[in-house]
Amino acid sequence: MSEAEIFDYAIIGAGTAGCILARRLTEDGKTTVCLIEAGPPDKHPLIHMPLGFIRMLFEPKHNWMFMGPPDPNMKNRPTFAPRGKGLGGSSSINGMIYMRGHRADYDGWAKLGNSGWGWNDMLPYMRKSVFNENYKDGKLHDQKGELRVKYLEEPNPLNHVFVEAAQSLQKKKIPDFNAGDNEGFSIFQVTISNGRRTTAATAFLHPAMNRPNLKVMTEAQVSRIVIEKGRATGVELDVGGQKKRISARKEVILSAGAFQSPQVLMLSGIGDPAELKKHGIGVQHALPGVGKNLQEHISAPIHFMSPRTTSYGVSFAAMPKIAWNFLRYVTTRKGFFGNNIVESGGFIKTDPSLDRPDIQHIFVPTHQGKPGQLLAWGHGYRITCCLLHPKSRGEIRLSSANVHDAPVIDFKFFSDPPCPRSDMEVLIKGIKDARRILMTPAFDYYRGAAVWPAENVQTDDALRDFVREFSSTVFHPAGTCKMGKDDMAVVDDRLRVRGIKGLRVIDASIMPTVTTGNTNAPTMAIAEKGADLVKADARG
Ligand SMILES: Cc1cc2nc3c(=O)[nH]c(=O)nc-3n(C[C@H](O)[C@H](O)[C@H](O)COP(=O)(O)OP(=O)(O)OC[C@H]3O[C@@H](n4cnc5c(N)ncnc54)[C@H](O)[C@@H]3O)c2cc1C
Repeated sequence: MSEAEIFDYAIIGAGTAGCILARRLTEDGKTTVCLIEAGPPDKHPLIHMPLGFIRMLFEPKHNWMFMGPPDPNMKNRPTFAPRGKGLGGSSSINGMIYMRGHRADYDGWAKLGNSGWGWNDMLPYMRKSVFNENYKDGKLHDQKGELRVKYLEEPNPLNHVFVEAAQSLQKKKIPDFNAGDNEGFSIFQVTISNGRRTTAATAFLHPAMNRPNLKVMTEAQVSRIVIEKGRATGVELDVGGQKKRISARKEVILSAGAFQSPQVLMLSGIGDPAELKKHGIGVQHALPGVGKNLQEHISAPIHFMSPRTTSYGVSFAAMPKIAWNFLRYVTTRKGFFGNNIVESGGFIKTDPSLDRPDIQHIFVPTHQGKPGQLLAWGHGYRITCCLLHPKSRGEIRLSSANVHDAPVIDFKFFSDPPCPRSDMEVLIKGIKDARRILMTPAFDYYRGAAVWPAENVQTDDALRDFVREFSSTVFHPAGTCKMGKDDMAVVDDRLRVRGIKGLRVIDASIMPTVTTGNTNAPTMAIAEKGADLVKADARG
């Protein structure tokens, strides 16, 4: 192995959190940082064109394309679990919805004993990252941050039909999903500007890339964190088959995401001793919570075909529209190639006594050829109905002691005990609500045959069976290195790994509970706060 290069900080993973951390920690021009990313640079043109989302969801060079094991509660189907791979991480392949979540999410984290993580503490960090092109009220949104956020100028017209349909059922239209209470229906704010996707890499990393105190390594996969006498002192990595070592004078920061942060910890001997032993890994520090507490938003599709060509879709009749929009996009960056497909939605409470919504409806104006697909030949639309606060908990395990073998991602969906508020029963309430919305007169002109659930799927038993056969994730894993004070917590409220010095985890894995909605904006806020904690501790 070659001689180790030395930096103040080594950051593992250049995803949503890693890019923000690299930028913030090098801002003083003195602190040295090595940002290490397993995937490639973000040069693929379809990363940057929002409609390219359809392709990036299945593009193996920029997507880990993980598969969970067959799940007995999902008719033994394996679960597709995409994750971004390369600069920007999952922010380079995600659906671009900007959603902070609900005030009660963060207040709930604080109530668990995590001081400084309530909504009022986190709001300044949410504001810090963003330049909101539509708001500058100075209380909720600013125009000072790096990441551009806005409402799409030309969402697909069916999105307005969807919001109107919800309103016709006395559901409220919400002026701003990101004000702390997101119950209601509206068009989403998105991380898109001037027809281009804004990612953690384009907003935070690229403008800082030529800082002399920042080194960015791509196609470099960390195989383990080096621990000496209870302190993280560096990392070992694999660069094109060559082993290298990077030393960290101050700290190693793990930002490899909710699947791979626990993987790297376990490969480094930090985790449940029984799990480490299975793979012949010596225990550096017993921490049974590593990889446990996996939470994800399971979702079911409520999908209709459409005899109209209003939805996005490929058909002979739609060819002129597609050609015209492509021409507009390449000449002016306008038109639907600059749209993200998942452009509106709503949050509902299936029980009015809840403190926050428990179902998110994401409206998708495309025909989905098969579950998991985003767009197929033909026209249609659907609601992806997502369960927001699952009671089931999954786990990440190792498949081997080799970092190149994907971790086992065992979601254990619907494994909570049966009861009227079980995950399955809440999701079924959500499906019924979604069906009601899509059956309102607002959709009469557009509605074709029901695809999922089929028309004859009406009873709760039939719906349960449908959920097991057709549900999938919406790609929001969290919680696998949870922050907290109990025995299963992996990091404390300064995001320091319990029992090891010089090591933090800063990414979506630290959420004790997953937020009410999409997880990119919450992860950005975690990274902003994490950067401040690192800087404060360095000052002593
Ligand atoms: C398809 C998809 C759609 C989504 N849609 C939305 C949406 O519309 N809105 C929203 O808010 N959220 C969305 N999300 C979720 C959101 O993007 C994530 O929650 C967020 O990006 C997580 O950030 P992170 O920093 O925790 O991890 P990531 O951004 O995933 O970053 C982890 C990085 O670490 C790297 N890495 C892993 N292991 C190693 C290793 N051993 N060595 C070096 N590098 C390593 C990875 O390659 C990756 O680049 C979506 C996610 C996906 C995948």
